[in-house]
Amino acid sequence: MRSNRKIFLALLCVAALTAFVAANIWRQHRAALETQNQSIYPNASAPQFASLVQPISNTDDSLITAHTAVATSTDQISDAVKLNQNARWQANLSWTFGGKNQRGWAIYVPLICQTVGADLLTFGTSRTDFPARLAAWQQEMGVAATGVLDVGTWQRMIAFWQADRLKKRDTPPANEMLTAPVTDFWDLQRPAEERMVERQTYDAYKRMVAAAVADGTLNLRATSDGQLSIGESRLKIVSAYRSRARQEKLRRQSPNSGRAGLAINSPHFTGRALDLYVGGEPVDTKDANRRLQTSTPVYRWLVRNAARFGFRPYFYEPWHWEFVGLPENSINAPITQ
Ligand SMILES: [Zn+2]
Repeated sequence: MRSNRKIFLALLCVAALTAFVAANIWRQHRAALETQNQSIYPNASAPQFASLVQPISNTDDSLITAHTAVATSTDQISDAVKLNQNARWQANLSWTFGGKNQRGWAIYVPLICQTVGADLLTFGTSRTDFPARLAAWQQEMGVAATGVLDVGTWQRMIAFWQADRLKKRDTPPANEMLTAPVTDFWDLQRPAEERMVERQTYDAYKRMVAAAVADGTLNLRATSDGQLSIGESRLKIVSAYRSRARQEKLRRQSPNSGRAGLAINSPHFTGRALDLYVGGEPVDTKDANRRLQTSTPVYRWLVRNAARFGFRPYFYEPWHWEFVGLPENSINAPITQ
């Protein structure tokens, strides 16, 4: 009996020691996580995107798996881990689009936040509502509600955006087109035959620009009647209607540049697609240029407001907006198989 009691006491000691060590490891891990998140998101005024995140290989699954295992323990840690994982995917997610390898989703953060209803101003800070908003969106879309924008969710989001775009590719009859004044264009030398726009699209564009001018935060230079000044380049039209012949010519001119991405069946054939000047190089698909563009106030204003005027974004080209009309009179034909 005495020896049994000794064994029991010894086991009790071992158990207590194990619990003590485990608790310490847990505390250290938690402190490390908090420090890590502070260094990624030092404060709200820091660069909002992933520039502060160290590159980490996508194949580093062991780390993510380990964090996920910890994440189920408390909600607080779970949120920290979600922030951490989102920061990694934001910088490093590998995907392909238009036959090109792409990295991360930092360029698209304003559109992503708008789509899930998250606050862009606190995005990337510890005060962000992003994981919670994303989880709600994921649930709505029928993907696992993890609050983490991983490759599966990213594919779903791209499909969601693409499905919302202009479905028609026909050129409207001449009486549904107009030639817009050159003062609406970014290039003040643009010839009349390259200034054609579908009428409803043009009306919606003018209403949208008037609303942007009226929004004092953008500081757009305007005329006394609320139009963009000649000297203001932002939100001016870079390109509108393009004929099939003109599109072919552009494709032939630049077979190896970003312009090779010019669609064979372009929404610009409809006169309802507008390339608007949002900053940087007007229509350059290089990541650095697009990243600059999606950080500008006018781009972010369009992301928040264009739908009110019937415009939809093309996520990959910050300058490209398509007029589909308001939901009650959308010109998108019903989807057929
Ligand atoms: Zn375009």
